[in-house]
Amino acid sequence: MLALNFIVALVLCCAIASTYAFRLNNPSFKRFNRFVSMNGISIDDMEDYGKNLFKGTVADQYLKKNGLSHTILDSGAWVHDESMLDKVAASVLEWAKDNGATSYCHWFQPLGSSGLRHGNSACVQMAMMEFDNNGKAVWDFKGKNLLRGETDGSSYPNGGLRATHRAGAYLTVDPTSPMFIRDDVVYIPAGLMAFTGESLDEKIPLLRATDALSNEGTRLLNLLGYKVKEIKPMIGLEQEIFLIPRDAYNQRPDLQLAGRTVMGAMPARGQELSDHYMAPLSHATEPLECMKAIQEECFRLGIPLRTRHREVAPNQFEFAPQFGTVNTQIDQNLLVMQIIEEVATRYGLAALIQEKPFQGVNGSGKHNNWSLATEDGTNLLNVGQLAKNSGSEEIFPVIMAAILKAVNENGDLMRLAIASPGNDFRLGACEAPPAIVSVYLGEDMTNFLESYSKGENKSYKPNVKLLSTGTRALPKIEIPAQDRNRSSPFPYGGHRFEFRAVGSSQNVSLVNTVLAMICAKAFKEFADEIEKGKKPRDVATAALKDAWKVVFNGNGYDPANQEMLTKKGLWRIDSGVDAISRFTEAKNIKLFEEMNVLTGAECQARQNVMFNHYIGTVEIEAGCMRNMIVQHVIPSVEDSQIPGPVLDQLKGAVKELETKMHEIHDAKSLAEKAQLSRKLRLETMINIREICDKAESLVPQDMWTLATYKELLFIDQTAN
Ligand code: ADP
Ligand code: MG
Repeated sequence: MLALNFIVALVLCCAIASTYAFRLNNPSFKRFNRFVSMNGISIDDMEDYGKNLFKGTVADQYLKKNGLSHTILDSGAWVHDESMLDKVAASVLEWAKDNGATSYCHWFQPLGSSGLRHGNSACVQMAMMEFDNNGKAVWDFKGKNLLRGETDGSSYPNGGLRATHRAGAYLTVDPTSPMFIRDDVVYIPAGLMAFTGESLDEKIPLLRATDALSNEGTRLLNLLGYKVKEIKPMIGLEQEIFLIPRDAYNQRPDLQLAGRTVMGAMPARGQELSDHYMAPLSHATEPLECMKAIQEECFRLGIPLRTRHREVAPNQFEFAPQFGTVNTQIDQNLLVMQIIEEVATRYGLAALIQEKPFQGVNGSGKHNNWSLATEDGTNLLNVGQLAKNSGSEEIFPVIMAAILKAVNENGDLMRLAIASPGNDFRLGACEAPPAIVSVYLGEDMTNFLESYSKGENKSYKPNVKLLSTGTRALPKIEIPAQDRNRSSPFPYGGHRFEFRAVGSSQNVSLVNTVLAMICAKAFKEFADEIEKGKKPRDVATAALKDAWKVVFNGNGYDPANQEMLTKKGLWRIDSGVDAISRFTEAKNIKLFEEMNVLTGAECQARQNVMFNHYIGTVEIEAGCMRNMIVQHVIPSVEDSQIPGPVLDQLKGAVKELETKMHEIHDAKSLAEKAQLSRKLRLETMINIREICDKAESLVPQDMWTLATYKELLFIDQTAN
C-alpha cells in the first residue's frame, strides 16, 4: 500500500514538473506565471484597500494634523476658502509622501474621447517639489497648486471654442470626486474651462445638471411635504469588454488602430450554443488572473469593483461596481477602463473596450443603472423606503410621472447621449435595445400608475412572490414579482432604472447630464404648477396623459412592436448621425440654457466635436481597411493563386474606398461629412467586407497573414 502511494506520488510529481517545464518554455505561459505569483487578492490586502483614495478615515488622519476633519471633503466647502485650501494641500502632501507619490496632476475629461483615447482622460504631471538656490529639492505643494491648473485648450477637441491664437484653458479642482494616488502621482479630478468661460469637458455640464436636478427636485419634494436639502443621482456602471491574446491583436492593424475589426470571416463556432455567458472563468488561461489583478488594483484605489463574469460573446467579460454618486462613479469608470487596458497588456492580452470589435457576435455595452437619492440616502425610486422615510405615499407616483414625462419629451436627447460611433452597430440588433426610447415598468407598476391616474386610491405594495423549485431539497425563495425586460432601453427594475443602450467605450457624463437635466426640467414644471395651487395628483395625472405612451412592457426586439411604437410617436432615431444633429434643435438648446447646463454656443461646439469624432473614427476605419486589403488580402490572394473574380473585386474595392474617402473630404459641412461617413461605414465597407471575408475563406490558412476570428476569440480553446 505504501509502495503504491509512493508510486502515485511520484507520478503526480513528474506530471506537475513536466507541466511546469512546458509552461516555462512557452512564451504565453511565461508571462502568465510571472503575474500569477505576484497578483490575485488575499485577505491581508484588505487593509490596504482604499488607501490610495483621499476620503473618509484615510483622509481624516492627515486632515486632523492640520486641524480639519474629513467632513469638509463631503461639503466641498474647502475649495472656496483659501485658509482651508492650504491646510488640505498640506494634508494631501503628507498622504502623498506616505504612499510614494512625488507628483500631482489635474485630471480631466476632454470631449470626443470615447473609443480610442487611452483612459478617456488627460493630465500634465507636475513634481510636488522645487529646487532652491542651492540646487536642493524641497517639497512644494500649496493650496494654489491644488486649486487650479492651466493647459492649452486648442489641442483638445473643442468644437471651435478655442484656436491656436486663442488657446487659454483652465483646470479647476472638483471637490465632489476624491483625489487618488496611482503610482507616484496624486490625481486631482478637475473641470476644464476655456479662457472665455465655456466648458470644454464632460464633467462641468454634468455638475451643472446635477445642481439643476437637486435644486428643482428638492423644490418639488418640499412642496410635497418632504423636507430634503439635496438630491443626488446614483449610478452603477456595468462595463463589458473583450480580452483577447495580444499576439493575435498584434496581427490586426484594424484592432490596433481602430479598436474594431473591419473584416474577418466567422469561424465555425460563435454564440450558437449560448455557451459563453457566465461560463466558469478558466484557471488555465490568462483572463481570470488578469481580471483578479484589475480588481486588486481597483480596490487599492477605493473603486468597489465587485462583480466579474463572462459575457455572451466568446472572450467577452464584464465588471460591475457597487453603485455610488454619479460624478465619482464616472471618474472611477474611466479609471477602470484605463486599468483594464494596462493590466491586460501585462498578461499578454489586449483589452477591447470599443462597442463592436467583432461582427457576428455580441458587442459591448455599459448599462447605466440609475436612481435618485436624498442626502440621507433615501432612494426616490424605492417605493417602500420613500414612503417610510417621507411619511407619505403620495410622492412616489409624482416622481415616476415626472420621469416618464422627461423621457417622453426628451427621448431624442437620451438617444443623442448614446450616439458613440461604435453604438451604430449595436442598437436594435438583438444585442442592445432598439433606437426607440420606451420605458418598461413591469405589470405591477403599470397597473398601479394606471389606477393612480384614474383617481383610485390603491397603494403600491412592492410585490414579491415565493418561487418554488418543485423539490423538497431546495428552499423556496422570495423574488420580485416583476420580470426583467432586456429589450427595453430604459427598464424600471424595482429600485432603479437601467439605461441599457449605452456604449461600452463611452464616458457616460453626457448620458447622466441628460438624465439629470430632463428630470430637473420635469420636476421644475411640476413644482411650478403646484406652487400655482394645483394638486400634485392633478399635475401628475395631466402629465401622464401624454407621457403614458412611452410605457411599453412587450418585446422591443420584435419588428411589429417597433413599427407600432414608431407609429405611436415615440422617439425613434436609427442613425447616430441624425441623433447628433439633435444637439442644436431649438427645443434642446432652450432646455440646456434654461437649466444652465450648456449655452447655445456650447451645444453647437459639442455637436461639432461629436461630428468630428464620428468622421475621424470612420476615416481611421476606412484607412485600415484600405491598407489591410492592399498589404495583406491582395498579396495572400495573389500568392495562393486563387482563381475567379475575387482579386479584381478587391482591387475595385480599394478604388471605391479611396473615392468615397475623397468625397467625404470634399463635402462642405460637418453634418454632410458625417452623413457620408456613416454611409461609407454601414453600406460600402460592409459590402467590401464580404469580399474580404470571401477571400479569407478561400486562401489556405498558412498563407493568410492576418489573425483570424478563431485566433482572436477563443483563447481557452487556442491557448498553447
Ligand atoms: P444585472 O446584470 O443583474 O443588471 P449587475 O449586478 O451586473 O446586475 O449590475 C447592477 C449594477 O446596478 C451594479 O453596479 C449595482 O451596484 C447597480 N445598482 C443597484 N442598485 C442601484 C441603485 N439603486 N441605483 C443605481 N445603481 C444601482
Ligand atoms: Mg450585469
